[in-house]
Amino acid sequence: MKQVEHIGIAVKDLETSIALYTSLLGKPPYKREEVESEGVITVFFDAGNTKIELLGATREDSPIAKFIEKRGEGIHHIAFAVENIRENIQAKSDAGFELINSEPKEGADNKLIAFLHPKSTGNVLVEMCEEKG
Ligand code: ZN
Repeated sequence: MKQVEHIGIAVKDLETSIALYTSLLGKPPYKREEVESEGVITVFFDAGNTKIELLGATREDSPIAKFIEKRGEGIHHIAFAVENIRENIQAKSDAGFELINSEPKEGADNKLIAFLHPKSTGNVLVEMCEEKG
């Protein structure tokens, strides 16, 4: 695993949070993208060496809506850049981490992504992401 590629933050109201993070970071987001399969709209801010990804649910059965229902708004996941996601999925599985995705799936921002279960990572949802070529 390489650098923290982004930090994902679950938010109730995207427009309110976009205004908040624009003020906090001193710049507007550079990208907004819907991931329909996940029922989520993602909004990205450049934060120097990393990015902030705001996650807003588009429907009630979205994983983000469920997360907010259970835990409230806040940090949802930490994403690490990887070079070969399939190798990393296998390596983490071999090392005893529990996988949420045993196969990479399409993420926002031109990435292939896979999550590790928070049960095996100290209650932090960990995303691995590979930039698609
Ligand atoms: Zn993410």
